[in-house]
Amino acid sequence: MTALKLLVQKFGGTSVDDIERLKIVAKLVDKTRRAGYSVVVVVSAMGDTTDHLLKQMESLRRTRPPPGAVKAMTPSNLREMDALLATGEQVSSALLATALYAIGHDTRSLNGAQAGIYTDQQHGRARIQGIDTSHVRQLLQENQIPVVAGFQGVAPDGSVTTLGRGGSDTTAVALAAALEAEECRIYTDVDGVYTADPRIVLDARRIAQLTYEEMLEFSSLGTKVMHSRAVEFAGKHNVPLRVLSSFRDGPGTLIAGERPAGGSRPLEQPLITGVACNQDEAKLTVSGIPDKPGIADDILGPIARVNIEVDMIVQNVGEHGLTDLTFTVHRRDYLQARELLGRVAEKLGARGTSGDSSIGKLSIVGVGMRSHAGIASRMFQALAREDINIMMISTSEIKISVVVKETHLETGVKALHRAFELEWDKPGQEVVSNRSQGETDPAPRQASQV
Ligand code: ASP
Ligand code: MG
Repeated sequence: MTALKLLVQKFGGTSVDDIERLKIVAKLVDKTRRAGYSVVVVVSAMGDTTDHLLKQMESLRRTRPPPGAVKAMTPSNLREMDALLATGEQVSSALLATALYAIGHDTRSLNGAQAGIYTDQQHGRARIQGIDTSHVRQLLQENQIPVVAGFQGVAPDGSVTTLGRGGSDTTAVALAAALEAEECRIYTDVDGVYTADPRIVLDARRIAQLTYEEMLEFSSLGTKVMHSRAVEFAGKHNVPLRVLSSFRDGPGTLIAGERPAGGSRPLEQPLITGVACNQDEAKLTVSGIPDKPGIADDILGPIARVNIEVDMIVQNVGEHGLTDLTFTVHRRDYLQARELLGRVAEKLGARGTSGDSSIGKLSIVGVGMRSHAGIASRMFQALAREDINIMMISTSEIKISVVVKETHLETGVKALHRAFELEWDKPGQEVVSNRSQGETDPAPRQASQV
């Protein structure tokens, strides 16, 4: 028997929310098999199971330990946390295997260890160290469908580990890489990646194809379609990824590397691929600090040490030996960062601190901007026309982000989407961010995203 082409199909929490949804997923797998593929399935926990399990464990940890007992969060707690959380995915895999069996497929559910997923010992955020694919390959050879519990592996000491929230995507990509699958399909509740949030921009359109780099920018900007680590992994191993909906048919969005130059069809290269906006931002300023070497670390060091991630940083031109420093953090970290900054400011003899937690970030992303000048000014003009004041700016090779007032985000996204002509019905333009050939976009207009 010649080996069939292999697809990895990963179904997220909303896709396996209840028994009815599981039956639909089984049919999707069945359809892929009928199309002549071998399939490895990876599943997340049903719906918000993981959150529930977390809450249960939290409630136990909150109960006060008896006098003299070890403190609440110990390594063994972390170990049990992983043992507990991993069960969510195991439930889905056993149920889905049963659903597949019921429609006539030979199938096996596998937990992380059974699927040969070896990780390091870092409970709660373990990294995959290697995959022993022999068991999965054996099942495929026997024409069975392995249904792997995502998000988990086994540590060197034999304990169950988990890969961090959203980690089933990483399981799927890692398996696809190790098994050299044709494609890793990530099924979710949206039917692809959009040029902007379709709930805000009604004529946003699904992007047919984008690069790993672009997808990474979108993920880090809060477009919660995929786990960033999974995208990174896919890029490193060149695994083609496709994001698609388990709720409706369609080609989804393909995420792949850039094709070599000189692709077949000449395309009107869109300058930018999409617009992202992120409300979860806050900014802090410390003013009147001595303008001398080491000062940035004096201020940001204490913030980093408590694991608060700093995004944008701007230092003003110093005057009379004094300067200001402004930076942004996630809004949930605002109060803690503000308090830390207050203490540092006092120590440094700064003039004062201030903060604003009602800001947001607007970003444009696209590999097309790499080779075009004037993208930034087009962005700034579009915002100026709407009277939107820009407070901070940061750029990378394929992204420009600005901080604006939160109340300006919606108008801003719409303005940018228009300014870069990302809406429908532009003759001569295809929704392909790649420099090369891509698919056309046959999907009907989607007015809303789940
Ligand atoms: N169930 C885990 C979570 O909710 C992993 C995943 O869904 O990928 O984070
Ligand atoms: Mg989940």
